[in-house]
Amino acid sequence: MTRDHDQQFASDNYSGICPEAWAAMEQANHGHAPAYGEDAWTARAADAFRTLFEAPCEVFFAFNGTAANALALAALCQSYHSVICADSAHVETDECGAPEFFSNGSKLLTVRTEGGKLTPEAIRSLATNRSDIHFPRPRVVTITQPTETGQVYTLAEIRALSGECRRLGLALHMDGSRFANACASLGCSPADMTWKAGIDVLCFGGTKNGMHAGEAVVFFEARLAEDFGYRCKQAGQLASKMRFLAAPWVGMLESGAWLSNAEHGNACARRFAGAVSGLPGVRALFPVEANAVFLSLPTSTAEGLRARGWRFYTFIGGGARFMFAWDAKPERVDELVADLHDLAAAAA
Ligand SMILES: *Cc1c(COP(=O)(O)O)cnc(C)c1O
Repeated sequence: MTRDHDQQFASDNYSGICPEAWAAMEQANHGHAPAYGEDAWTARAADAFRTLFEAPCEVFFAFNGTAANALALAALCQSYHSVICADSAHVETDECGAPEFFSNGSKLLTVRTEGGKLTPEAIRSLATNRSDIHFPRPRVVTITQPTETGQVYTLAEIRALSGECRRLGLALHMDGSRFANACASLGCSPADMTWKAGIDVLCFGGTKNGMHAGEAVVFFEARLAEDFGYRCKQAGQLASKMRFLAAPWVGMLESGAWLSNAEHGNACARRFAGAVSGLPGVRALFPVEANAVFLSLPTSTAEGLRARGWRFYTFIGGGARFMFAWDAKPERVDELVADLHDLAAAAA
């Protein structure tokens, strides 16, 4: 029977703080430091991003992903512009209208997709469908990497999207709340997946990667970051004790934990998916390319799992979602597998 503090796979943000992030916070917690990002930890974290991305990017730290996405998109738009995204994009389905709110009304234009991936054709079709004064002018495309259902855009796919964006005069934003999982999945460098592939602005997720809180907004073109600090402050996203948003990034990036944490989550997802494939009535709804597994389950099996104390979401992707975080315990994954085996056999 599952107890309250037992590990669950409902969301990767059920997890705690990883040792590397925690240790850096502890180190930052000695003495005083200047406020509002004027401290040495914030400078060091921004430098760690420049090293990681092999580029002179502009970096800002926000408390969460909703703010990071909404403010990044607002920076790329005027209020009469529009943002093209997948119908399942977090900005559309899970941010309570924050992108529209912070951009003073830039409209999200959604595209029907399979697995949340946009295509150059879909972007072109939507961006060129109307050019009259009555329609909000397309200005930005946002993609989620990996998508909300765990699909990873290949580098070739990202390059094809950015090529189309250039031709259409659109900026390209990446919601990377699980950016590290995508890097681990493709085995490519952060630079390859972003500015080298034509990404203009990235929201790099720290929370799901093992931090207590925090997302980095990374601008690969300084011009786009102009006045962004004011935008953050106005939106209530400028931390006065900024060193505690910045220090964990130093711990994550300098140690390499950002990548090893993601590799571990992805490996646990593969372990789980492999162990339940072929069970009667159980079907994977999407290819497992990052740290998410979506299963279609018989109702009795899903109810049985809940009765045994397992938590999972069913409001995303039309199935039961299981997410594997940096700290997923293989033995605990195997307990879930064993319960699924029991219940699936009983339902067959
Ligand atoms: C979790 C998540 C975010 C950020 O969510 P917050 O709860 O605002 O931190 C953004 N995009 C995607 C795809 C996510 O899964």
